[in-house]
Amino acid sequence: MKHGIPCPACGSLVQHVVETRKQRGYIRRRRQCLECPMAFSTEERNLWHFQSNADETREQMHMLIKARVAKAAQELGRIRSMMADL
Ligand SMILES: [Zn+2]
Repeated sequence: MKHGIPCPACGSLVQHVVETRKQRGYIRRRRQCLECPMAFSTEERNLWHFQSNADETREQMHMLIKARVAKAAQELGRIRSMMADL
């Protein structure tokens, strides 16, 4: 079974997963290299990248809100002119 994590001792990608433990926020796997006696553990995490673009996201949100507000103002103007015609 290939897992793509090179063994720290020999670099082999072939290892046996002895134990998989789900922790809060990550998965910890205990691995036994099949090509040398090395046993080691790996942790798998989900990385969220939103924070690194926080400014960009905020900028986009501002533009979105401005566009919404402009549209709402347009709509309001349209409704007002409709009411003026009544
Ligand atoms: Zn190894």
